[in-house]
Amino acid sequence: MPPLPGSGLAKGLAVTLRTMTKKTVTEQYPDAQPELPPRTRGVIGLFEENCTVCMLCARECPDWCIYIDSHKETVPAAVEGGRERSRNVLDRFAIDFSLCMYCGICIEVCPFDALFWSPEFEYAETDIRELTHERDKLREWMWTVPSPPALDPAAEEPKELAAARKAADKLAATQAAQAAQAAQAAEAAEAAQAEQPAASDDPGEETPA
Ligand code: SF4
Ligand code: SF4
Repeated sequence: MPPLPGSGLAKGLAVTLRTMTKKTVTEQYPDAQPELPPRTRGVIGLFEENCTVCMLCARECPDWCIYIDSHKETVPAAVEGGRERSRNVLDRFAIDFSLCMYCGICIEVCPFDALFWSPEFEYAETDIRELTHERDKLREWMWTVPSPPALDPAAEEPKELAAARKAADKLAATQAAQAAQAAQAAEAAEAAQAEQPAASDDPGEETPA
């Protein structure tokens, strides 16, 4: 049966009316910032103090877009007669975001928690070379990394927290013992002073003939 004349128009108007009453999903970016999920992969931040230059991230990156340079430094022995140590010092750490595919492997494999995801995404450039972010820029991204979510109440205490708590307890116990020792010594000194003969308190007093 051929369609009734004007049925197409009625159908179109029905769609228009249905859409008009629905809530709009358009985000008014850049006037309004989008609400991003907490684990958004925007850009990678480097917490340089934690980096030991182990090169694991650069080796595992499937795009080979992490560039690391370093040199070795000799650290003198901590005790007399001890052995000198050598450590790696970071000279360059850069990520080329024009090659990066945001897989997150570098962050996963870093054994020292030196790399983190930041939700920042506004770093488009007109020059592709500017998309290679050097260590200073990667450090700046660190300050935009959100805090980790709170632990589940039933979760085990993380080993880092347990170790820090143990060290703090040990320090508090040592300080308390030192304070008790100092108080004891002060008490003993006071008692010894009180026991001294009265004559020694007044050396100018004369003995009668
Ligand atoms: S996110 Fe993936 S591609 Fe990007 S730097 Fe890390 S390992 Fe390489
Ligand atoms: S894996 Fe981590 S510690 Fe090792 S070089 Fe990369 S950022 Fe530094």
